[in-house]
Amino acid sequence: MSDPDEIAVVGAGLAGCLLACFLARRGLRVALYERRPDPRTGAVERGRSINLALSERGLDALRRIGLDRQVMADALPMRGRVIHPVKGELDFQPYSHDGQRAINSISRSALNNALLTAAAGQPGVRIAFDHRLTGLDPRTGEMTYETPDGTTKARAAVVLGADGAGSAVRAQLLAHAGLTESLDFLDYGYKELRIPPRDGEFALSPDALHIWPRGTSMMIALPNPDRSFTCTLFWPTSGTSSFASIGSPAAIERHFAEHYPDLIELAPTLVEDYRHNPVGALGTVRCTPWHVGGTAALIGDAAHAIVPFYGQGANCAFEDVVELDRCLEETGGDWTRALPLYEERRRDNTEAIARMALANFVEMRDKVASPVFQLQKKVEHALERALPGRYVSRYELVSFSTVPYAQVWRRVRRQHRVLGAAVGAGALLIGGAILRGRRSA
Ligand SMILES: Cc1cc2nc3c(=O)[nH]c(=O)nc-3n(C[C@H](O)[C@H](O)[C@H](O)COP(=O)(O)OP(=O)(O)OC[C@H]3O[C@@H](n4cnc5c(N)ncnc54)[C@H](O)[C@@H]3O)c2cc1C
Repeated sequence: MSDPDEIAVVGAGLAGCLLACFLARRGLRVALYERRPDPRTGAVERGRSINLALSERGLDALRRIGLDRQVMADALPMRGRVIHPVKGELDFQPYSHDGQRAINSISRSALNNALLTAAAGQPGVRIAFDHRLTGLDPRTGEMTYETPDGTTKARAAVVLGADGAGSAVRAQLLAHAGLTESLDFLDYGYKELRIPPRDGEFALSPDALHIWPRGTSMMIALPNPDRSFTCTLFWPTSGTSSFASIGSPAAIERHFAEHYPDLIELAPTLVEDYRHNPVGALGTVRCTPWHVGGTAALIGDAAHAIVPFYGQGANCAFEDVVELDRCLEETGGDWTRALPLYEERRRDNTEAIARMALANFVEMRDKVASPVFQLQKKVEHALERALPGRYVSRYELVSFSTVPYAQVWRRVRRQHRVLGAAVGAGALLIGGAILRGRRSA
């Protein structure tokens, strides 16, 4: 079953489903191909990123197709970070200067299913599950899929690869269309653990993202609607205190008792979860170009996967969809002009968030625990209150606005230069006053 005038979207994940909705709204016929069976009827894969933080960029995209309220009905707002030191009091650090703005913990599968159902309900969209793309001729739009019934061929006018970080469409463009790529993996991986409800209630405050910063590694926990928390360890994959070196039940218990003592009580299945849940890879994908003429292109993680430390991968993928739709609007639906325009407008922005996401790893695993950082945050929030709209923190711009990421990057660098100069001048003035005081004493 294939129609050469269709638009093929490969991958019915977060970006692919949203894209199918946007294209259908333009009156296009869309075939959405997904390698998995229908996720609405099956179990969620164990230990694979159960929830994620959705913020303004993602919400803006959902609003445009009227899905924001449905998705937000089950979201849990997180207004700041709660820092868990090895010893001592928990520390709440608000995300915004008024303590009111929140990022939202949502179930990844619920979000994907809501988008899938929205896409399936659009006239002109058909979905083919159990279809794994294995071949593509980007110039003719001929695709090869592996299905439970064997190999099948299909054809489309335009093929859009929304098939995630390990994109098969990208691999085909690499093989047949002169695309080049770079994959920068971190020496870190991630693994999920679970904190169940305690006496039917959340075991930790549910209105925050919890962080256990431990210098070179960390754990975070996000709340779920069933009152559990999903914890994610971000640890080195090899060396001391790594996933490779900590494997036996005794070593796991010892390590957590020493470095995450409050977790022992909170996570009764800790050892089992640790031993059975997989270690996921973390890295940044860059490739160029993202499109081939007007017939094939990449979107979301397939074009530019990033590390998850700013909670922006899905938000950024949703912005791609909004921008591609805008480019189609501005070019009257001319794919040969829309695809290069989309790439031109998104590339710098995705590069900027890739850099900010890497920088945020150091902030989360290390800096958040330091008194200097905590003071800096307080000064920053005071400046935001004193200079509304003129001084805006990077976190605020990334998470609570739709200002393009590249502009955020430039603006924050400018702000830091001005702030650095102001602090320097302040230090000189104070130093001068002290010296004058000494001379006159
Ligand atoms: C630990 C972790 C935490 C994260 N937390 C956040 C967060 O808090 N906030 C945030 O915004 N982002 C977060 N992200 C990033 C986010 O998950 C991704 O950016 C987002 O899922 C990208 O969406 P996508 O649709 O491009 O790719 P995916 O969601 O990966 O979807 C790709 C789809 O394509 C399908 N597919 C793959 N290969 C084929 C093939 N050959 N043929 C057909 N179909 C195929 C897959 O089955 C899948 O359905 C996190 C990521 C990780 C790893």
